[in-house]
Amino acid sequence: MSESMTTHKHPELSAAHPERNEVTSKGRAKSKDAGRRSLTESLTVGDLQFEIRRSPKRKTVGITIDRGGDLILTAPPDCSREQIERIAHDKQFWIYTKLAEKELLFRPAPPKSFVSGEGFYYLGRSYRLLLVNDPTLPALSLSRGRFLLQRNERGRAYDHFVRWYTVRGKPWLERRVQLFADRIGVEPLSVQVRDLGYRWGSCSPRGSLHFHWRVILLPPRIVEYLVAHELTHLAEPHHNPEFWSRLERAMPDFAARKGWLAENGWRF
Ligand SMILES: [Zn+2]
Repeated sequence: MSESMTTHKHPELSAAHPERNEVTSKGRAKSKDAGRRSLTESLTVGDLQFEIRRSPKRKTVGITIDRGGDLILTAPPDCSREQIERIAHDKQFWIYTKLAEKELLFRPAPPKSFVSGEGFYYLGRSYRLLLVNDPTLPALSLSRGRFLLQRNERGRAYDHFVRWYTVRGKPWLERRVQLFADRIGVEPLSVQVRDLGYRWGSCSPRGSLHFHWRVILLPPRIVEYLVAHELTHLAEPHHNPEFWSRLERAMPDFAARKGWLAENGWRF
């Protein structure tokens, strides 16, 4: 399993989005016999990563999405790697649909070229990029409705954008978290902004909230929905009726925002 998937596993996930009721807490993983770990296979199909588990009980290949959004592919012991790969490939659309239903997903945005005139989102608005040669400016800045990128930094443009969104996003999210934490009646410990793979947000049972840096590209009312959603998990780990009614009390129009995200989130 790759580094990026490993960082999403374990305690922070127990509060997120179950697809089935399988506990993947650290405690369980430790109690497994050590020999099994070395047999772990993984598979990457496009931007999806699967953990492959072999089971003599299986006659066919099954795919499940665990509560953290990790993909588990269970296969009979003698199923070839090629067969597994083909099935995972054929199931891609189903997986994307499932992840989208659970608001776990955004597909990778169309690749950027970082040329003048190209649009970049920030809090739901698109700003055009302008390449500049001005040593008095930082590598990337937003000024008078334009993103200004130093021409000689174009090769590192993607990293500059990620950093810019992360730095701008953190205080913005922290303010919203504070506001909604009071409304929902929970006490979050910390807010972190980073790459969460294809998930918008997650939280740990101890109260740390994690948001993908891409969250800050979305319109403010949608970011607020994600904030309220994750905060509600601090009180109600699962998506049960109590979860939704608690969320509705804090955000009466949450359903409209949720629907908007499911339909439009992939564009950002
Ligand atoms: Zn959730």
